Amino acid sequence: MRIIRGVVEMQKCCLALKRRKISIGFVPTMGALHEGHLSLIRSAKKENDSTCVSIFVNPAQFGPAEDFKRYPRPILNDCAVCKKEKVDFLFFPAREQMYAKGFRSHVEVEELSDMLCGARRGGHFRGVATVVAKLFNIVQPDRAYFGQKDFQQTVILRRMTADLNFPVTIRVLPTVREKHGLAMSSRNAYLSEQEREDALFLSASLREAAAMIKAGERHSGAITRRMRQILCSRKLMNVEYLAIVNPVTLAPVKRIAGGEAIVLAARAGKTRLIDNMLIAI
Ligand code: AMP
Repeated sequence: MRIIRGVVEMQKCCLALKRRKISIGFVPTMGALHEGHLSLIRSAKKENDSTCVSIFVNPAQFGPAEDFKRYPRPILNDCAVCKKEKVDFLFFPAREQMYAKGFRSHVEVEELSDMLCGARRGGHFRGVATVVAKLFNIVQPDRAYFGQKDFQQTVILRRMTADLNFPVTIRVLPTVREKHGLAMSSRNAYLSEQEREDALFLSASLREAAAMIKAGERHSGAITRRMRQILCSRKLMNVEYLAIVNPVTLAPVKRIAGGEAIVLAARAGKTRLIDNMLIAI
């Protein structure tokens, strides 16, 4: 595995692969790798001739009151994990490599970035879209791999890729969960024992929604009301949003017909958690 810290070196390396018609599967991450990341890496390996993983805790997607400073950075362990998975290139740029002095350009995916998580995290998706656009230009992947767990992010990045004509296929893979259903996240490390227990109610509320839908319920209001009841039964749980939305426009849907997404964000203590489920009918 080659570890590359320079933008120009990474770009040169990927251009050379492209000239030799070696396909590149790309997995952008912020590190603290867990099984969720590994499922993306394994798919990238399976579907491409070479695999590149990036680890960059992107300051542009954190608000001033968010956890940029304390975000976990176990880089030695991450390197070992990537090596074990036989990743070909680990791109691990320094902040100044990605945001050189005088940096002024950003990518804004309108409307979609202001809804749901975006309504609470001003500038977050501008930061995400900008860094992913930069990474696409640096790595020039054939396929890029993202987790369903960050549903709104996948919607926004699909939009950006289509709007800006990036020649990249976006692959979205299912959320990997811990044994009792909690969606894996690098931020789960922040949870106390009690918060972790309460956090299980996110996935439990989604399972209840799935059961209601299976039993014939089609009214979004009835489903979200029941989910809210489940979540609010926990002392430490604060629901930020809970909605059933169109999977392309993110507009709320009143009556479900299949294919919509149930999306939710809640705080367990101080830790913000998200989860979602695509509705299958
Ligand atoms: P992050 O390091 O949190 O920026 O995540 C990097 C990529 O891994 C994103 O595409 C995430 O959606 C994806 N990811 C994070 N957690 C999971 C999970 N539990 N299951 C599947 N993908 C995930």
